[in-house]
Amino acid sequence: MRTVEVSNHTSLAEYSDRFHLEGHVRTLEEEAKQLLPSLSGRKVWMINAAESGGGVAEMMPKLVSILRELGIEVEWVVIESERPEFFGLTKRIHNLIHDAGDPGFSAEDRALYEAVNEENARALERMMSPRDFIVAHDPQPCAMGAILKERTGAPAIWRSHIGLDRATPRTRSAWEFLRPWIEAYDRVVFSVPEYVPPFLADRSSIIHPGIDPLSPKNAEISPRRVQSILCSGQLALQHSPMLHPLFEHPALRLSAEGKWERATEAEEIGFLFRPIITQISRWDRLKGWEPLMDAFVRMKSSSRTGPDGLHNRCLDIIRLVLAGPDPASVADDPEGKDLLEELTRRWLDLDPRLQRDIAILTLPMASREENALMVNAIQRCSTIVVQNSIEEGFGLTVSEAMWKRLTVIGSSAAGIRQQIRDGVDGILIPDAENTTEIATILDRALANPALRGHLSGNAQRKVHENFLVFTQVRAWLRVLHSVLTPLVDVTLSPPDASHTGASEA
Ligand code: UDP
Repeated sequence: MRTVEVSNHTSLAEYSDRFHLEGHVRTLEEEAKQLLPSLSGRKVWMINAAESGGGVAEMMPKLVSILRELGIEVEWVVIESERPEFFGLTKRIHNLIHDAGDPGFSAEDRALYEAVNEENARALERMMSPRDFIVAHDPQPCAMGAILKERTGAPAIWRSHIGLDRATPRTRSAWEFLRPWIEAYDRVVFSVPEYVPPFLADRSSIIHPGIDPLSPKNAEISPRRVQSILCSGQLALQHSPMLHPLFEHPALRLSAEGKWERATEAEEIGFLFRPIITQISRWDRLKGWEPLMDAFVRMKSSSRTGPDGLHNRCLDIIRLVLAGPDPASVADDPEGKDLLEELTRRWLDLDPRLQRDIAILTLPMASREENALMVNAIQRCSTIVVQNSIEEGFGLTVSEAMWKRLTVIGSSAAGIRQQIRDGVDGILIPDAENTTEIATILDRALANPALRGHLSGNAQRKVHENFLVFTQVRAWLRVLHSVLTPLVDVTLSPPDASHTGASEA
């Protein structure tokens, strides 16, 4: 187990200086004033499995730093193990909760899971007081939090960022595995009400994830800065002197020889010129990479019979960008490398013309900030951002793109349905594995700029009202408070209405 340092880049006062965020900060501070007394003198231990890669690691620094600024002592620790099979096992639990993989666990699985959690719990127990609060995130440290609660008597919350809107033999098998530990917790938090398994109905709360509107990943950036980030990450060639230096670690692109090379080889992707469809995610089968690539191939290969010359030209020059983290950098996701290899094989089988039109990119994670800037710039260059997840706990990438006022096309996975209303703030794909359907939806959206404008405006409003970090922190304050003082109502009122709906981008 190790502690993760968090530095706060943006204070609440700085958010408040932005007219469209001021109401959010005021509402948060007012609520905090009422709820904080019950939390004083208690340290909150946030425990998860990775400090980078994926949605939980994305949200944690901001959650921790805002809670600290409000006056709560918070520490972030990451569960560790020298046994890679532990993360293989927890990834299997993760997949089963999303109805994928082989159900059933052996006595050895249970022994491994317990041993790693026990070892980590022992290390943290030495640093804890019974007044502290334990908040364990996702299956990896679930037993660790339960063990700590039992030994120290500290109140404990288990936060599941994953779930499925139906019960299947696979999901049941995962929940049965975790059940003895989850039942030890005072409260369990899910992102979506449909995820709550029946045995937890009496102790669940719902918290929607939220994004940081001023982070390097989401802040508004000028066209010049977009261009300079692309050049710094070697995603585009530099044609003029630039203020900022090259990033130490460039993005890499799969080449026709099956090697990872500079993304500008053998020709530029054309981020600033061509229409671009993008998906950025972890390299996980459940993110629906392969059907998306197949759908793009289908759309590109379809005959151009329509009368709209501009649309036909769009289909000719459009490119698909599939980007994810360097798979070596995401400690708790051992399957990433295999999936990327599979996708690579599929891509290498494509006609060279299609290979040129589909860029598979790995974005280095050595610097979180540089990685975030690249995600920001790539999304802002996209005509459409897709999140074609077969299953999705929430899908922060959706809110990240909606906040940037982009057209987002998402699958109908439960997490994404929370964010996108079909035809209102984006478009939903009914079946993430139906390539014909995906191709048709992409084609129609590309042919209709007016629709895209309408959807993307609503998308930003939706995130402003529901999925910014301030709303998430308010929900956390209520849940923490209510565990100490049961019977309190944890329903959230909307943020200060006079400030909702304003937009910056
Ligand atoms: N992400 C990133 N760099 C990448 C790929 C993904 O920073 O190369 C981020 C992405 O922007 C999002 C998070 O990883 O913030 C993924 O979270 P999401 O909830 O979409 O899915 P999860 O990975 O948690 O399943």
